[in-house]
Amino acid sequence: MDPDKVFCHNPNCPARGKLGLKNIGVHSIKQRRYICHICGKTFTDTKGSVFYRLRHSAEFVTQIITLLAFGCPITAIVQAFGLDERTVADWQHRAGIHCQKVHQHLVQQPRDLGQVQADEIRVKHQGGIAWLAMAIAVSTRLWLGGVVSARRDTDLIKSLIEQVRNCALYRPLLFCVDGLVTYVSAIQKVLAMPVLNGKRGRPCLKEWENLCIVRVIKKASGRRVTGITQRIACGTWKQACLLLKQTQNTLNAHTAYIERINGTFRSRITALVRRGRSLVRHLSTLRNGMYLVGTVYNFCTPHKSLRKVLYLPANSHRWIHITPAMAIGITDHVWTARELLSYQVPLPPWKLPRGRPSKRLKELINQWNL
Ligand SMILES: [Zn+2]
Repeated sequence: MDPDKVFCHNPNCPARGKLGLKNIGVHSIKQRRYICHICGKTFTDTKGSVFYRLRHSAEFVTQIITLLAFGCPITAIVQAFGLDERTVADWQHRAGIHCQKVHQHLVQQPRDLGQVQADEIRVKHQGGIAWLAMAIAVSTRLWLGGVVSARRDTDLIKSLIEQVRNCALYRPLLFCVDGLVTYVSAIQKVLAMPVLNGKRGRPCLKEWENLCIVRVIKKASGRRVTGITQRIACGTWKQACLLLKQTQNTLNAHTAYIERINGTFRSRITALVRRGRSLVRHLSTLRNGMYLVGTVYNFCTPHKSLRKVLYLPANSHRWIHITPAMAIGITDHVWTARELLSYQVPLPPWKLPRGRPSKRLKELINQWNL
């Protein structure tokens, strides 16, 4: 047990989510509990992780969730391990919620993305048809997020672009999308920046500088693609070619990278298998499955086309495959599934409540330099 790597989870504690204050001590080694010396609350070492209040060991739960993350059907797990179907479904739900938090905390930070590709998957579920829209950063193969909706409409595309905006720095940006016209206006609207001039009323909106949108329109005859047309819908071809060269080293605009990751998701989420029989009942199950697969893909799976050189003694070197999260600089190593599932997302910083603070609170703030 290492109290220096743990923070207080009490939402009412002034030190919630803060590391390095030396306010955490070990309360019980046997029960694996910590204590916060500021609010006096104790908490277990699994608080904030997937394993919190589970009766099974963390190792066993990790094994089951890893199987789920790589597409093993729940019925197979139930047969093999003798678990109740509802228990496995609950673990999948927990893992999905946890991975969504990890994704929002670590991946949705402003970074230079260069080129983004976006696409939608049509999903059959028990109540009808749903749509899963996802986006990927091309140069690092980082999965940027996804949205599940009952309709393929402007709201679905806007929610997806909002997720991309959360991950993007204000730098030249190229979008390669399919023929869906909704993308162009949705991207331009969501990426427009308000210009604050101190006057009352709705601020003016400024366009994202050096934004390019390329629509890749496929012509199909039956099931075969017979022709592809690239149309620039925003920006210039000169700028688009510059970004294509930087991010994928060719000048051919396409949506192959997002289609490849769609294939990965189709193979790992049984509900996405074409003409499959395991349809999901609730869209939340699909959303949780998407976050679990997406986060395991970003953090735990070395990518075959991403690699870095590892220098060894005696002037030798070796190339190693890295994960998308390593390629973009979120982490420096390949995470294990256990590491991902036990990652504790810090709570948002505590704010001084309205009104005059009590004497005790003032003392605490001065004593702990909060
Ligand atoms: Zn506390």
